[in-house]
Amino acid sequence: MSEIIKLLPDHIANQIAAGEVVQRPASVVKELIENAIDAGASRINLIAKDGGRTLVQVVDNGSGMTPIDARMAFERHATSKIANADDLFLLHTKGFRGEALASIAAIAHVCMKTKTHDAELGTEIINEGSKIVSQEPVMTPNGTSIAVKNLFFNVPARRNFLGKNTTEYRKIVEEFLRIALVHPGIEMSFHHNDDEIYNLPEQGLRQRIVQIYGAKFNQRLVPVNEETDIIKITGFVVKPEYAKASRDQSYFFVNNRYFKDRYFNHAVANAYEGLIASGKYPPYFLYFDVPTKSIDVNVHPTKTEIKFEENQAIYAIIRSAVKQALGQFNIAPSLDFDQEVSFNIPALKKGESVRIPEIQVDPTFNPFETTKKSNPSKGSAISAGGFSGKKEVDPSVWENFYQSAKSTALESYEDEVEEKVQVETVSSSMNDELEVKRKKPTQINDKYILTSIKNGFLLIDQFRAHCRILFDQLMDDIGKSGVESQKLLFTEEIEIDKTEVSSWKDLIPELNHAGFELELNQQKIVIHAVPVRLEEQNPQRTLVDIFENYQENQQKNDLNMEASIALSMASAMAIKGGKKLTADEMEYLTDALFASTSPQLSPHGKKIIETFTIEEITKRFN
Ligand code: ADP
Ligand code: MG
Repeated sequence: MSEIIKLLPDHIANQIAAGEVVQRPASVVKELIENAIDAGASRINLIAKDGGRTLVQVVDNGSGMTPIDARMAFERHATSKIANADDLFLLHTKGFRGEALASIAAIAHVCMKTKTHDAELGTEIINEGSKIVSQEPVMTPNGTSIAVKNLFFNVPARRNFLGKNTTEYRKIVEEFLRIALVHPGIEMSFHHNDDEIYNLPEQGLRQRIVQIYGAKFNQRLVPVNEETDIIKITGFVVKPEYAKASRDQSYFFVNNRYFKDRYFNHAVANAYEGLIASGKYPPYFLYFDVPTKSIDVNVHPTKTEIKFEENQAIYAIIRSAVKQALGQFNIAPSLDFDQEVSFNIPALKKGESVRIPEIQVDPTFNPFETTKKSNPSKGSAISAGGFSGKKEVDPSVWENFYQSAKSTALESYEDEVEEKVQVETVSSSMNDELEVKRKKPTQINDKYILTSIKNGFLLIDQFRAHCRILFDQLMDDIGKSGVESQKLLFTEEIEIDKTEVSSWKDLIPELNHAGFELELNQQKIVIHAVPVRLEEQNPQRTLVDIFENYQENQQKNDLNMEASIALSMASAMAIKGGKKLTADEMEYLTDALFASTSPQLSPHGKKIIETFTIEEITKRFN
């Protein structure tokens, strides 16, 4: 077999955007698996230990390397995949900069075993921090095994920068999935420590998604299929009722490569308009085929952004393709799991019309109803939904509101605040005018509460307001030594994904401190008791919401664990936009909000109240 690796000329090397290839163990996973795919492997096994800190190993049955290629592979800009800059834009392989192995070897202990199919013996190379420690012939199967140990052993700063093992582990899972979801024809497995996380045979795309996310996914998936001159879109979206509180199951691929795109995200969300509550995201797996020349992969393979020439047209095509798919799933016979017919939407039968899916606005609990039943002896005036009876609120809290608006209490939040709240809207002189006329509040768009003040009116975001109220109560509860909990008459269970086990392990002790009594039993969470406040909610649903919120919050900011849990519980329990409120409920919300620690700012750091003064209103009539 001839040697096929060439050294990239310098000028091309320079044309290729520089950048750090290896940020964390997951980057190693990505590079190694992509190399295995480029080598034509039909089986890829990933093994990691301790979130990849101590070991990331990829074993493939691809082409393997000759002894000379094996040695060359560690040279910077050694690649078999590109010879001149034009090739950059016609890439069909994954890696092309010839930098990955060299970069990895510079910061880890690497052991590579490789053998081409026509060779008798393979080669073993040990490379530690860019030094070839040994190169020997060995007995080894066809293909390549690369073990990367002790990542960042010589760069302590980078090592310390890594997240907890569970965080790194999750990133690895994510990289693994991004590849597994686009190469269902390759048998893939993942072992972490001593656990088998995934074992995916060679299969069709639908089966692969189902195997990854569980059998329940089979009937949730709706095939999408659209072909135009500029793009071909295939894949799946899910039925609206299975939208999630996080975007973590949203996948776009273009020409077999994962990418992120907010604009196209929006196109999908837009197709679901009116079908799902705000704050929920539909999982999707969409695969684009476009002419290579119409995209710019940005010659930076660690980046996941891609530029599309026909951006706007593609937006419209995605939106209509998803809309059409959703409109059709009601009449399409449910697709057989084993049948890979997913991309053929059955034609309409004679006389049948396309039914637009019914609107499924947030089917969660109704806190107002539940609280009517609530037992006053529980001690807390404010139970689960927070509306058990009217609570007299001292009018001075209104004054406090204006005072607190001026106070600096908000400042500590400011760094985390996405939408900076402008407190100037409430001028100090308004303090004098605070004789609040208590007119009945009104609801606008089932989302905002309009309430008059002497000098104008306020709009209050009902969900954010309720979150603030609940968050304060929960923090208070958690801060006290123990949160009162209520045993369930019958234990309930939640089935969880394998990948979620480690996060649940972190979360359960904290949730138990916050009034739950949960137990992890393999891939099930057994619920024995819930906090008294949550007693009348559907416990599974609430816990899943809490979990998803928690994962999202963890990624966004580094709230401490207690606050993060309180925030997750509050978000899960709070009434959502879209819920009609009675006058009493609105009054309660308003009063309790002004009695809270920070009426202006939701615990997510979002603005709760917008003030409209008479002066502003008058100006508008000029
Ligand atoms: P690139 O993938 O950008 O070419 P890498 O540093 O990732 O650069 O790999 C360098 C070269 O080593 C590749 O071009 C390929 O020829 C060879 N190589 C790496 N991994 C494998 C593998 N698993 N099987 C066969 N060849 C490989
Ligand atoms: Mg590569």
